[in-house]
Amino acid sequence: MEKEYITTDEYIFTRYPNSSKRNHRVYYVSFIDGKRETLHHYIYRTQIGRIPNGFVVHHINGNPLDNSLNNLDVISRSEHQSLHAKEMWKKADKDKRQRMIPKETFNKYVWHRSKKGRKQLSERAKNQYRGKIICEVCRKKAIVKNVEAVVCSLKCRRVRASRIWRKKYPDYWKEHYGNLKGK
Ligand SMILES: [Zn+2]
Ligand SMILES: [Zn+2]
Repeated sequence: MEKEYITTDEYIFTRYPNSSKRNHRVYYVSFIDGKRETLHHYIYRTQIGRIPNGFVVHHINGNPLDNSLNNLDVISRSEHQSLHAKEMWKKADKDKRQRMIPKETFNKYVWHRSKKGRKQLSERAKNQYRGKIICEVCRKKAIVKNVEAVVCSLKCRRVRASRIWRKKYPDYWKEHYGNLKGK
């Protein structure tokens, strides 16, 4: 099988550009002190620093043959997997996508993208509750999506919550915030 070599320091790193396995095709590998190590891990480890447990070295620009330092970054194994899964998803055709996720999830995905699904979703968005209220805190008019909403914004929600809390625990409030003017 065809081989390509890169020699770094005294180590020879090899890859197999025609291999059926992606790992063998795109990663240069050497055995260092009896341990298999990829070139990008070696470069990162010796020029930047230790790779923490559970972390891997990722090629930022997506080109696994570009082992320049500014193309390498450590990233947790799980984050790395999901990153590449997303990439694979983007490139995959319908058959491959179907194999990548559980059947139920895939059916939902197909439905969401169908004419009928898109129509139903947009209807649902249109019919979502929108009501006019006067905010209990700032007394301004507001349009809300939630039937139970009584305040206009996150800020007013926090003010309201603190008022309720103050009423419920007046002694605690006095002790800790007694010198603050309540809103
Ligand atoms: Zn990667
Ligand atoms: Zn308000």
